[in-house]
Amino acid sequence: MRIAELRIPAIPKVARHLVLALALAGSVAFVHLLLPLDVMSWIVQARAGSSTPSKDIVLVKLNQSTIKKDRDAKTLLSALSNIEEAGADQIFLDVPSGKLGAYEDEFASGLNDQLKSNLVLVGRYSLSNGEKTLGFPIDPKNWKYQNLVVMEQFESPIFDYNWTFFGSVVDNGRIYNSFAKELAGRGGDDSSDIPISYQYDLEDFQTANLIDVSQAKFNMSSLAGKKVVIGYEGSQESELVRLPKAGYVAQSFAPIFAAESLKSGGVSFFDRTELLMAFFVLLAIMVALFQKSRWIGYACVVSAYAACLIAPIFLPLYLELSATGFFLLSFAGFRIFNRWRGSIEMKSGQTGLPTLKALTRQLETEQIQDRQAVIAVKLHGLSEVLAVLGDEQKLEYFDGISRRLKIANKNLEIYSNDGEHLVWSDVFEERGILEAHLLALRAIFAQPLEIGGKQVDVTVTFSADLSFTDAASRRIANAIALVDKTSLADMPLLLGTQQDAEDREWQLSLQSSIDNALKIGAIFAVFQPKINLTNGQICGYEALVRWKDEERGFISPAYFIEQCEQAGRMGKLTRFMLKDSVEKFQASEAYQYGGTLSVNVSSTMLSNTSLPEIVCEILEAADFPEERLIIEVTETARIHDQLTARSVLSALAAIGVGISLDDFGTGTAGLETLYNYPFSEMKIDRTFVKDIATDTKARAICEQVVNLGRKLNMNIVAEGIEDQRTLQILTKMGCPVAQGYYLGRPSATPAIDMPTISTAAKN
Ligand code: C2E
Ligand code: MG
Ligand code: MG
Repeated sequence: MRIAELRIPAIPKVARHLVLALALAGSVAFVHLLLPLDVMSWIVQARAGSSTPSKDIVLVKLNQSTIKKDRDAKTLLSALSNIEEAGADQIFLDVPSGKLGAYEDEFASGLNDQLKSNLVLVGRYSLSNGEKTLGFPIDPKNWKYQNLVVMEQFESPIFDYNWTFFGSVVDNGRIYNSFAKELAGRGGDDSSDIPISYQYDLEDFQTANLIDVSQAKFNMSSLAGKKVVIGYEGSQESELVRLPKAGYVAQSFAPIFAAESLKSGGVSFFDRTELLMAFFVLLAIMVALFQKSRWIGYACVVSAYAACLIAPIFLPLYLELSATGFFLLSFAGFRIFNRWRGSIEMKSGQTGLPTLKALTRQLETEQIQDRQAVIAVKLHGLSEVLAVLGDEQKLEYFDGISRRLKIANKNLEIYSNDGEHLVWSDVFEERGILEAHLLALRAIFAQPLEIGGKQVDVTVTFSADLSFTDAASRRIANAIALVDKTSLADMPLLLGTQQDAEDREWQLSLQSSIDNALKIGAIFAVFQPKINLTNGQICGYEALVRWKDEERGFISPAYFIEQCEQAGRMGKLTRFMLKDSVEKFQASEAYQYGGTLSVNVSSTMLSNTSLPEIVCEILEAADFPEERLIIEVTETARIHDQLTARSVLSALAAIGVGISLDDFGTGTAGLETLYNYPFSEMKIDRTFVKDIATDTKARAICEQVVNLGRKLNMNIVAEGIEDQRTLQILTKMGCPVAQGYYLGRPSATPAIDMPTISTAAKN
């Protein structure tokens, strides 16, 4: 799997800000911190709005002086019967308990004698410190029709305002319908709270004075079919209710307003969590939709919020918007801070040039042209230059360099990473033109810069990323990685394509891929036969590692073994190859013919003193005869600790396994190696073998190696035989063993049939 597929997409900063703002607003909402703001907005909305009541409800006010002055229940009773006679639909007596004082009993018995069932007693229900109280104007037991409703008496509302009534109240096992609901003509089971709209004007309600009504000095016919509330109007604030539009008024107005709200279809209430989530989703969608021009998305969200603030003036709505406002403000705060910090990051302090971050943003936002190269320049020896320049001079130095880079195009913007790289992007028709341009620029830099009267040399190399379709940040990184590979002496310019970028990416993930490949069996051993040239028979097999990647197909060991070493995976690979090849060879038919098995071991493993132990362990576990295993030591030039290597090889020899010097004659394995270590076999490298038919020098070298082997009593294997002619020469030379494609290619199971061998032996 490639690194690109493994990469977890980075969470964009804007998403982090969204979530952070939500968490902040959520916690503030959780502790109800902003509720006063919501209440304030509702007050403003109530004052700004206006609704017309149904006029079905009439309030007859009974005040303290009425009760005191008349000192009897007669006034009240005659008012009630007058209202009844006038044809009122229902009469509600809403007087707090105890207010009728000594006349309560007389009034109660009068009631029972005179009135019909359309009188309803209103109870006041309150809950404070967990203690419930429910009081009626008279003891309900004394009212024969038992028509009772209850209204909630508010305890500690915010700013003295209340916005909902209980839909019903349960007391002592009895369920009481809400006064407001009854007034609105809604009985029934719905016990949900009743939000109260306060947009009604007091003047729009029909009211009367109890004395007038009792003396029928009032237009009594106007009460026909109406719901008449006899409401107590106290004289102190505690006996009144505060309304946003009218101030302190008789408490009966609150249930009357609530009833009117219900009659006109009810008021919808959206709490802070619902609104917060809705706006979070809206903002997230807008951010995702308008990635390039975010302000459009933000404008939509702000408009939606403003609409939510204004809508309750015209629609029956209560919206707890403060937490959402806090969320939007926090989000805006995060974004502004981010922008401010970004603007600081956009300019490098040391060079005075815009930073690579600015270039990334530039490339991401601008319309990228077809052949836009990302070019990097490396300033060699920069640290020495900076060490001698003052701050002002440094700026002058970078300014001088950027002016030279802009020589062909004054509009170019040069970006810096505060270090030795400067990067920019430019459009070029052809690769050749770009190359010529950069080399010409390099020539210009041959002239030193004059900084503060001093001549300062500037030595530069260039690279250009031509992977046109890649992401901006990747292209910049590629250009910098490339320019780091340039050298002043022989490679002043490197151009990188899409393929280079992909290769680099593949290399980055190689190490973890190796682990995975070992685990899933994508790395395995194949076997190439070794032929005894005296009898033409197979005398053994060399195990070679293979890696079959799902995407890339077969990957050459030459390519990944070095990576394995760098990643410290060599021990793992060696152990795997020893075990895998021993087991596979043993399980194959070829095993019974008695040949040997050669396994390649990198010389870097010779610093590992546990190698002999590992080999022993594997041989013992498989019960594999030690004399049939040959360890081929590759890349012997890389042996660093000769003492340890010698003791490891001696220990291996002592086990009884053969030790072969691979690629003898090449730069990695010479005479010194042969001399220093206890080898039992030498493999002549393909470099010489492949040319013996045509090149006398190659043939002479091979001959000498064969002779040397004979004298040292070592087995000699010639590698890389690709044709019959080479085989014939080697046979004639007396080379004992040969290996090569002509004699057999590496295969998953050790081959036993060798059709070409008979020909080879005969010749
Ligand atoms: P080597 O040990 O010298 O292996 C011989 C290489 O030559 C193999 O390449 C083999 O496939 C190739 N070869 C054999 N006959 C011919 C021929 O007639 N013509 C040509 N052109 N090539 C031939 P391969 O498998 O790509 O291995 C390359 C190198 O990788 C090996 O060279 C060895 O140094 C290393 N290697 C392979 N397997 C392992 C392993 O399991 N462990 C270690 N440490 N290194 C390994
Ligand atoms: Mg080998
Ligand atoms: Mg070799």
